[in-house]
Amino acid sequence: MADKVQEVEEILANYLTAGEILSTVREEAKEKIKVGARLLDVAEFVEQRTIELGGKPAFPCNISRNDEAAHATPRTGDEDVFGKDMVKLDLGVHVDGYIADSAVTVDLSGNPDLVKASEEALATAIDIIKAGVNTAEIGEVIEETIRGYGFKPIANLTGHGVARYLAHTPPSIPNRHMGHGVELEPGQIIAIEPFATDGAGKVSDGTLTEIFQVVQNKPIRMPAARKLMKELQEYKTLPFAKRWLTSPKLDLSLMQLERTGLITSFPVLKEVRGGLVSQSEHTVIVTEDGCEVTTI
Ligand code: MN
Ligand code: MN
Repeated sequence: MADKVQEVEEILANYLTAGEILSTVREEAKEKIKVGARLLDVAEFVEQRTIELGGKPAFPCNISRNDEAAHATPRTGDEDVFGKDMVKLDLGVHVDGYIADSAVTVDLSGNPDLVKASEEALATAIDIIKAGVNTAEIGEVIEETIRGYGFKPIANLTGHGVARYLAHTPPSIPNRHMGHGVELEPGQIIAIEPFATDGAGKVSDGTLTEIFQVVQNKPIRMPAARKLMKELQEYKTLPFAKRWLTSPKLDLSLMQLERTGLITSFPVLKEVRGGLVSQSEHTVIVTEDGCEVTTI
């Protein structure tokens, strides 16, 4: 029993350390997002600084702009620079597999209310979170807050649980009013991430894909693809970026691994009507009488 208690304490300590590292990196990285700065420099700063502070990236640094809601990350040698964009910086840090996930919107586009809508929706959601609260209630306050600003929540993007080496687990935390949900339990680690838009309130897959994840391990015949699978072991069941990889014949191998069901891909998600999108996200530990934000 004492061992079990100690184990739980250690796990919680890792979640908190991951959150502390993340918030330090997030605040430093925010300052680097300026018109004319390179996206790749910001992503590399985030990932290197995370390691410097004793964590590891739980997923590639997402830098999604304007109508991109999520899953954009720079390519190898990417020369793209920020314009007058609405920039979502979404970071993941893990310590021994225990994950912190947080996002902030840096607005270079002159639409402060859209940013406030998702920030306030997140704050309102955090205010009501405690053990026993239904996820449907969280969706309701998020939608009400965003609509109060005259915008729409993105209906098909949700918050989620996290678990060791798993960036997305149940329960899903809706960003809109839902008929029914599930009750939160004490000790659950969940990421809340409202998205607000002046578009239709829905995203679909774009054409660019730079983020992948191993979903299955089985022998593969093609030597290059086999070599790549070996390189991917380091990331376990966490998402990785194509630009992190050094295996030869990379594009062909990624295609083969995806076709044989060993990896899955995360295309950039875009607002269907081309609306601007803002996002705010924190990871919290649910407690009996509230929650502890790990990424504050
Ligand atoms: Mn995130
Ligand atoms: Mn998330």
